[in-house]
Amino acid sequence: MQTTAVVIGAGHAGLAMSRRLTERAIDHIVVERGEVANSWRAQRWPSLRLLTPNWQTRLPGHAYTGDDPDGYMAAADVAATLTGYARLVGAPIRAGVAVHSLRAAPRGFQVQAGDDLIHARAVVLATGACTLPAIPAIAGAVPSSITTLTPLSYRSPAQLPGGGVLVVGASATGVQLASEIRRSGRPVTVAAGEHVRLPRCYRGRDIFWWLEATGLLAERYDQIDDVTRARHLPSPQLTGTPAATFSDLNSLAAQGIRIVGRLGRITGGVAQFSGGLANTCALADLKMNRFLNRADQWATASGLDDDLPPPHRFPPTDVDPRSPMELDLASGEITTVLWATGFRPDHSWLDIPVSDRTGHIRHDGGVVTGAPGLYLLGMPVLRTRASTYIHGAAADTEALAGHLHAFLGNGRRAPAEPGRCRSSSLHPAAPLRTEQR
Ligand SMILES: Cc1cc2nc3c(=O)[nH]c(=O)nc-3n(C[C@H](O)[C@H](O)[C@H](O)COP(=O)(O)OP(=O)(O)OC[C@H]3O[C@@H](n4cnc5c(N)ncnc54)[C@H](O)[C@@H]3O)c2cc1C
Repeated sequence: MQTTAVVIGAGHAGLAMSRRLTERAIDHIVVERGEVANSWRAQRWPSLRLLTPNWQTRLPGHAYTGDDPDGYMAAADVAATLTGYARLVGAPIRAGVAVHSLRAAPRGFQVQAGDDLIHARAVVLATGACTLPAIPAIAGAVPSSITTLTPLSYRSPAQLPGGGVLVVGASATGVQLASEIRRSGRPVTVAAGEHVRLPRCYRGRDIFWWLEATGLLAERYDQIDDVTRARHLPSPQLTGTPAATFSDLNSLAAQGIRIVGRLGRITGGVAQFSGGLANTCALADLKMNRFLNRADQWATASGLDDDLPPPHRFPPTDVDPRSPMELDLASGEITTVLWATGFRPDHSWLDIPVSDRTGHIRHDGGVVTGAPGLYLLGMPVLRTRASTYIHGAAADTEALAGHLHAFLGNGRRAPAEPGRCRSSSLHPAAPLRTEQR
């Protein structure tokens, strides 16, 4: 079979790209191994809510129109929203067909999709950044008597054996799951490494309103000092609920959760934690306050101080000096270890040498290096900091579809850089009232 472009993956990124290709009358198909929004159906735990507010779930040609713009969608609602979006944009989806290999071919690429061999001049990889759990090598040293889980296999506390739970990682996933498991009555310990602490709400506005309004999310990948680091930053300690001001380590400790330092080693069944917890927390507090300073400066410069509650600061993270440095995993105290240590993409089926030594695809703002006609979507800070989130796909797909269009028109002489993003238009007037959004 022959088509001009193949988009692999029908998550929000692949669907948004389909819309952009249709706008440019570029013949294409979207190949999806499951169904639309597969990762929200099959790979997210049921109680998950987006940590971005509903009004921010924007896609090309789609804005949130429900009656709770300041709420946070459950995973099932995200799946329903994307299903509606696929219909809206008329995406030509081949569902239930997995791509097993992608090869370079004369004048394009060969895509092995199920039993079909598809030839295309351009291919867009939209298979997601969070397909597999990123688990450290020390996981192999956990005693076999202990149940181990990842966020992809976790569904609810009911699936856990009785007894204590060690949650490794204190980013959005770690703090959310630790809190939920603690509420089921189990003793919970959280091993906290580097983390991003932010309040859910500041001066009466959701923190994502501030992140967008100040222009932070619009910062381009090629203007960030250390983009590799930015791409690996942990997700902020937030939960999709307006009830909580914080989902930080203080709030976990108030729930009776024990906080320990980063899990460094497991030797002879004994988990050893870093002694640097106080420093790690001080750094997270410092960075939070640095952003709040930026928010206050922006509000003053924008003449909004009279419309907003006054600036204030939050108490620092309270670190218990008696926090243990070791935990004997063989003692029976811990019966489950939950690896909330991040996610990674799965491009193992790619038969084109475009990955670096760490397994990440080399790209320039989503234009894959050394493979003209191949594009990447959905990765953290792909083109701007907003690329990490659903709404970032609007600007990313606009830029990359433009590049792909030029590539098709010019043969192999597409522009080296996909042009300026339009993400600056995401935060111009920075509306204060929900109804203005
Ligand atoms: C726990 C968690 C919470 C998040 N919370 C938020 C949030 O609050 N707000 C926000 O904006 N973002 C959030 N994100 C980030 C982001 O929205 C998701 O990572 C998003 O799912 C990425 O979208 P995507 O379209 O790039 O990939 P995905 O949604 O993962 O879609 C990729 C699709 O490709 C398919 N696929 C994969 N491999 C193949 C193959 N070989 N052949 C065919 N099909 C294939 C998959 O089945 C899937 O449907 C969260 C992510 C996670 C993991």
